[in-house]
Amino acid sequence: MSILILGGTGEAMALARALAPDSRFAPLLSLAGRTKNPAPPPIPWRCGGFGGAAGLAAFLATHQFAAMIDATHPFALQISANARKAAAIAGVPLLTLTRPPWIAKPGERWTIVRDLAAAAQALGPKRRRVFLTIGRQDLLPFRAAPWHHYLIRSVDPPDPAFLPPDCDIISARGPFSEDDERALLASRAIEILVSKNSGGAMRAKLDAAQALAIPVVMIARPPPPASGPVVTDRDGALAWLGRLHDAKRGV
Ligand code: NAP
Repeated sequence: MSILILGGTGEAMALARALAPDSRFAPLLSLAGRTKNPAPPPIPWRCGGFGGAAGLAAFLATHQFAAMIDATHPFALQISANARKAAAIAGVPLLTLTRPPWIAKPGERWTIVRDLAAAAQALGPKRRRVFLTIGRQDLLPFRAAPWHHYLIRSVDPPDPAFLPPDCDIISARGPFSEDDERALLASRAIEILVSKNSGGAMRAKLDAAQALAIPVVMIARPPPPASGPVVTDRDGALAWLGRLHDAKRGV
């Protein structure tokens, strides 16, 4: 069975690793091409957009995919909307694989906001030392609060046109340990952390912030897909694929 996996996340990579040795499936991982040197996937992969929902539907039909898994980041709304439309046009079953959101633990000091602009506003009128962990594509709204000092972490260097005036850049690829996060927050004298509610098992930066009593501005998740099956981990996706495979063979 040919499977198209829309990736760009750790979950997509974990699924790719699990499918690599499974002879029932011929998976293809699709990446947007945002990261210059992505970690090489263990299965065949491609890079770059499809040209909207119609382009993705044509790609599904041309390569005769039997199923598609949308394992993109929960904040990547456009590609997920395209995937739903394309699956409907091409008549291909679609599964959404999305990690569960983080939930504040007792004692954690979160201000939950609805978007990036609200996050910039929530930093307040007084100058603070801010750790921005939102990736390099979404920095522009923080130029509206130029009086803060920003520590920005991203895999590739951000476009200088998007940067707030007072900032330091760290280029690093996760996962990060809680000890490392704690050391970074302390050495940079960080007073507040900004994060998207990406969710999942890795919450080292949040645990480190809690340990140092550093407040967090948490950007809430956009609404989940309107319809269709959703799983929250690799094993759920493997079970869905197994059922689909058996159904196609009439088992
Ligand atoms: P987006 O706004 O939802 O998508 C913009 C366009 O990028 C899509 O319309 C599509 O182009 C192309 N695209 C996105 N994901 C693709 C994929 N896996 N394969 C092929 N084309 C893809 O996406 P985004 O928020 O910029 O995120 C881009 C990628 O980075 C996603 O794959 C996502 O999983 C990953 N990522 C995003 C975030 C985040 O915070 N947004 C964080 C970590 C990782 P066409 O319309 O031309 O097909």
